[in-house]
Amino acid sequence: MSLLVKGGTIVTATDQYTGDVLVEGEKITAIGTALTVPADRVIDATRKYVFPGGIDVHTHLDMPFGGTTSADDFESGTIAAAHGGTTTVVDFAIQYKGQTLHHALEAWAKKAEGKAAIDYGFHMIITELSDQVEQEMDALVRQGVTSFKLFMAYPGVFMLDDASIFRALLRTGKNGGTICMHAENGGVIDVLVKKALAEGNTAPKYHALTRPARAEAEATHRAIALAEIAGVPIYIVHLSASEALEMVTEARDRGLPAYAETCPQYLFLSYENYEEPGFEGAKYVMSPPLRSKETQDRLWRGLAFNDLQAISTDHCPFCMKEQKTLGEGDFSKIPNGAPGIETRMSLVYDGGVRSGRISLNRFVELTSTAPAKIFGLFPRKGTIAPGSDADMVIFDSEKKVRLSAKTLHMKVDYNPYEGREVTGATDTVISRGRVIVDSGRFTGRAGAGSFLKRSAR
Ligand SMILES: [Zn+2]
Repeated sequence: MSLLVKGGTIVTATDQYTGDVLVEGEKITAIGTALTVPADRVIDATRKYVFPGGIDVHTHLDMPFGGTTSADDFESGTIAAAHGGTTTVVDFAIQYKGQTLHHALEAWAKKAEGKAAIDYGFHMIITELSDQVEQEMDALVRQGVTSFKLFMAYPGVFMLDDASIFRALLRTGKNGGTICMHAENGGVIDVLVKKALAEGNTAPKYHALTRPARAEAEATHRAIALAEIAGVPIYIVHLSASEALEMVTEARDRGLPAYAETCPQYLFLSYENYEEPGFEGAKYVMSPPLRSKETQDRLWRGLAFNDLQAISTDHCPFCMKEQKTLGEGDFSKIPNGAPGIETRMSLVYDGGVRSGRISLNRFVELTSTAPAKIFGLFPRKGTIAPGSDADMVIFDSEKKVRLSAKTLHMKVDYNPYEGREVTGATDTVISRGRVIVDSGRFTGRAGAGSFLKRSAR
């Protein structure tokens, strides 16, 4: 099967030009101007952008949390991702206490197999670090699971102590893995949560008020300091607070390999959303929480100046009905998370590129190229080049879309951006040479996605 994408404006992290892309089988085999080779199918991309497929390195599909499970599984979640122009996800496998990492990986591989419509990899969440688990980290890196997520929050559930975190960091110095950190001071937050509940403060907004920006900044600083002592890189996930960004910026100014991602919710939503009437604020209960409106500008600046390197979604949807309502009368029981896997590219294009906050090349870098490089997928993924996987998005920069839970494909009964109009949307999506979204219609197949063995540093 061959495919010729003709006349589009090809955009990578560094280039922008009009050209044709030839795809043979699963790979891009040639790029040129006015290619005349015969192909099984020709797609006219005139007046459209051709981007490398989006890479979302932070998703939680089919994830148990707080007595329920995130509403999208690997089928619905990856189909929604495809509609939004994302062709690769890196999800999180979870090691529960007493479990080996291998057992955890097997469990998550089963969730994805036969279901994922796009390619996927896994980070491994470590919740218990023994000598044996340390050795297993090496084996996982060899198997292509080259990043590990640790938590400084959720004591008793996910949180690791500093000694364990430090040991894991040291280990990645030997095995070439990368540590991803959920940086919030869990001990402090737990005390604040108990205090709020004891005072009868149970509404959703107290989720945010008990997770101060300084608790994120403190943990971000500590995580970077531990990585500095260990002499290894570190990647901070879902950075939300400008106080935390200052810690990353300071470290990078000193030349440390500190990396961080932020997410669209922190760029487009804010604390005010928690004050929506009734229980509506629960829609935005996620960790870290939404911050002040002023934070949005700081984060955009961080993205523009490369103090932040990636935009992922932390897609972790829970329905209002029967899921978020578990926390009616007690904000601490609201499942943490919100949907976002499908809306990332349009939101960031509209709010970032169209509004002049970031360049078109930077958009591609933040949503595809940099995550591919940081997480061992480049140059197979993350660019448009001969030899790379034919993962491409044909993007209509003038198409207007009104975001709504009714028309989006994520399996969740609300959308945090309900009613917002964005200009710029996916038209056609190609995953390893197969057209999986054809002029807005899903033509892919559940189970067609492959597990990605990622490289070590
Ligand atoms: Zn997450």
